[in-house]
Amino acid sequence: MTPDEARRELGLGPQASPAQIKAAWRRLVSRWHPDRNPDPQAVRRIQRFNEALACLQAATEVNPGSDEAPASPPPSPPAETASDGPLQPSIEQTLVLTLEQAIFGDLQTLAGTLRPVCATCHGSGKAPGPPQACPRCKGRGHIHHVTWFVWGGFTETCPDCAGSGEFQPDCPACKGQGHAAERAWQLRVRLPAGLRSGDVLTVPTPGRESTDPPGEVQLHIQVQPHPLFTWDNDDVLHLDMPVDGFAWMAERWVDVPVPGGWQHMRLRRQHLHYRLRGQGVAARRGESRGELVIHITPVFPDEFTPEQDACFDQLCASLRAHPPAALADWHTRLQDIQPPAV
Ligand SMILES: [Zn+2]
Ligand SMILES: [Zn+2]
Repeated sequence: MTPDEARRELGLGPQASPAQIKAAWRRLVSRWHPDRNPDPQAVRRIQRFNEALACLQAATEVNPGSDEAPASPPPSPPAETASDGPLQPSIEQTLVLTLEQAIFGDLQTLAGTLRPVCATCHGSGKAPGPPQACPRCKGRGHIHHVTWFVWGGFTETCPDCAGSGEFQPDCPACKGQGHAAERAWQLRVRLPAGLRSGDVLTVPTPGRESTDPPGEVQLHIQVQPHPLFTWDNDDVLHLDMPVDGFAWMAERWVDVPVPGGWQHMRLRRQHLHYRLRGQGVAARRGESRGELVIHITPVFPDEFTPEQDACFDQLCASLRAHPPAALADWHTRLQDIQPPAV
């Protein structure tokens, strides 16, 4: 496969960067993975994509920093020469996190099952090595039929080898499947703080233990809705909270839930909205956390109990005895006016 053919195979233009090459390969291999794609050509396609990637990677190694094809023919694809095993398609997984896990990061164990690409045939399903002679045509590529209705018989192209005369037996390791037996994998991942829905994390495989995934794992992050907090489009966290109306009137301290704990907060009669800095979410990963905005609704009883009524009588009496300036001024202005008829 030439680099031009390889780029065509991956649907890339001549200017494709190494990152674009890798991304295109990952997308195609994911789409054509035999676990997901029942197309009988899937295994063959995967092998072509692997060949194309190896070819383009070899080309960029020969000419670092250049997108031009190397002057010499590209080395053989890894299907025939590599000893590190075949390139394995990346595993895609969706990881649903709580808001707290997204904000603070977490240690997670990922697990799944998959069928790795066969290490013997690199996914082709065919035995490595030179082709053998086609058993049907004995390597001739055509078959001669002797019949009574055509003088001397006639010759047709061998349907088994399509005229090539060659026959490649099935891979003995995977019995022609192109992939090894299904196996479970497991991976411990430390998630960074400050994740959000839509983030994609690429986790490389350690590749040491038999339970490690064969290739890298692509984690698609989803943050589930929180029962208390709302994450708005401007990356501000909100909390709607009813509070004891009397505590609000009396400007008492209350405990407010924040992600990961509680915070002591003093209510103010003038305020229904409070901003707690550093208790929200980061606008971008690695940045410091933003605000949590608390919207309070002071709640009063529909009807006062006799005890509450008695308390209010006391409060009213004390206010009459020691009126604030605005009330005292008002009473002064009313002095010369006839009081209301009782
Ligand atoms: Zn095989
Ligand atoms: Zn044949």
